[in-house]
Amino acid sequence: MRLRRAPQPAEEAPQSSAPPPGRAAVRRALPPPGQLRRERRSLLQLRERRLRDLGGLMVEMYRRDQFRQDLIVDRCTELATLEERLVELETLLAASASRGRIREAARCECGAPLFWGAKFCNQCGRAVSAT
Ligand SMILES: [Zn+2]
Repeated sequence: MRLRRAPQPAEEAPQSSAPPPGRAAVRRALPPPGQLRRERRSLLQLRERRLRDLGGLMVEMYRRDQFRQDLIVDRCTELATLEERLVELETLLAASASRGRIREAARCECGAPLFWGAKFCNQCGRAVSAT
């Protein structure tokens, strides 16, 4: 694995979720759930890749005995942004499932938002119950 100065998020970034223009403008309409789910799926995949990359990067730095904090911070910043968008998507999907009534996305007992399909809490590592 080669170390690169900066991540290149554009290459793999999922397509923007902007709805196609031209449709009759419905004010504050939720994007179609299918579109939200597609974005969520690609973001979850991207997140998995980024987490693996980050792990690989750490091991590489350990091997070289040269920790580059700026690199780690860059990657973590990107991951945090990605996760923020995932939380947003969960909220939108929950809202569309309850037909517009805003409902909170699922949360772990520790208060951290849970991502769809997650088996463990991202923050505390608790196993997610199958409810
Ligand atoms: Zn938790």
